[in-house]
Amino acid sequence: MWPDDVRMTNQRARIYAACAVKLDEDHTDVAEGTFDAALTNALVVIVAHEWPGQEMETPKKGSGRPFLKSASKLLNVIKEKAGEGDKAEPVPDEPEMYLIPDPFPVDEERPTTVSEEDSILSYEPPPLPRLDTRIDAATLRDALDATQPIRHGKEGEGRPLERRHVDALLALNSHTSLLALSAEQEERYEQGASKEDDRERARALKTLELLGEDVARRRAAEAPEIHVGYHPDDPDGLDLQECPVCDYTAFSARSGDELGMGVGVGECLVCHYRRSPAIALAEARVVLYEARFADD
Ligand SMILES: [Zn+2]
Repeated sequence: MWPDDVRMTNQRARIYAACAVKLDEDHTDVAEGTFDAALTNALVVIVAHEWPGQEMETPKKGSGRPFLKSASKLLNVIKEKAGEGDKAEPVPDEPEMYLIPDPFPVDEERPTTVSEEDSILSYEPPPLPRLDTRIDAATLRDALDATQPIRHGKEGEGRPLERRHVDALLALNSHTSLLALSAEQEERYEQGASKEDDRERARALKTLELLGEDVARRRAAEAPEIHVGYHPDDPDGLDLQECPVCDYTAFSARSGDELGMGVGVGECLVCHYRRSPAIALAEARVVLYEARFADD
């Protein structure tokens, strides 16, 4: 591929991911144009990757530059190729369901060899399952039929998008040329969590101001009596930690982060700052990264 093509492919994959994530969160909120944008961009990327050139419409002689096929024509290309057994295949007993097999299937028998000792610092995700791409053309076409009248301003003729339409759209993400969705989802999840954390910190600072220094100090002194930390019955319990807002050792964690880096999820007994599981995970990633970096 030429650099420009790579850039365009990345851009299309991003548009697909951004639109699909929006639809995944809420598909009831006038999303017709969003659906079409997501589907068309995903299909262009998939078809161009598997059968280069087939994503373009051949212009009639003298009618100018070639242009991209519509979503419905791109589905026709996939149907035709599956019929020929060319890098795609029809799924038996499921009408208009096509499969593009995983180009790099992982050997499912592969043994996992992570020793206890390195398991935290060399955290490895579990082996990936086979990533076949299922193209549910019947449902995707139905989604186009449902939304097209609305997009073309013919009121009353369209139907709202259904969850199964969105699921068929999300399933395209398994294709090796897309796989953009999880990064986009993760980013939005972390952005959302970090905004919430900013509000939480601001709220806790206000509380701290209202309490005044004396009350804050007294609460900090009482914290060890209230907090239930490590106990032989609860070996996962964490001791009181320093609170990032008020600086007292009064952060009472009820559990640790998912990666086991000791970042507490819980609430400060002085200023009531609360750390959510999402923020604990984001902070644990930083700790993990720094630990790894220090190793090298
Ligand atoms: Zn605090």
